[in-house]
Amino acid sequence: MATIRLEIVTPERQVFSDDVDLVVAPGSEGELGILPHHTPLMTALKTGELRAKKGSEEYLLLVSGGFLEVRPDRVIVLADVAERAEDIDLARAEEARKRAEQRMAEKYEPGVDAAETEAALHRAMARLAIAEKSRRRGKRSHGGPPQVG
Ligand code: ATP
Repeated sequence: MATIRLEIVTPERQVFSDDVDLVVAPGSEGELGILPHHTPLMTALKTGELRAKKGSEEYLLLVSGGFLEVRPDRVIVLADVAERAEDIDLARAEEARKRAEQRMAEKYEPGVDAAETEAALHRAMARLAIAEKSRRRGKRSHGGPPQVG
């Protein structure tokens, strides 16, 4: 079966590099599914979940901002921020969510940009959802009956 190379990098580090069967990414115009031999394209990225399938494995990552480029032989994600689901610090994301919610409730705070607070809340919520999904799956793959819900 054909595969496509997926490279995910941030200004800080390389987060992912492997040959995969399918990539599903949060493009600025909506969710984008990319199979091998996809038409070349370039799109901005929103904050959200990026999934990559390789055989029976599915990798989950949080990406936020930046660009995705589909080339004939590879998908290159140049993200502002990217983390594998298993590297997400749940406590930190929970703190970030509380902080952003507090700021939003306070409505106006000099020097605090409302759009940035909203974006921070969105990142925190996405991190929590992705990390929790990954943990549920992790439990399932370590034996015991499949969990419902
Ligand atoms: P915080 O307020 O906790 O810093 P943030 O959303 O403002 O959250 P970002 O600006 O998105 O943080 O990211 C800064 C750096 O910290 C990036 O390298 C990002 O991957 C990392 N990071 C932020 N939050 C988490 C988290 N909950 N788990 C793992 N890495 C994180």
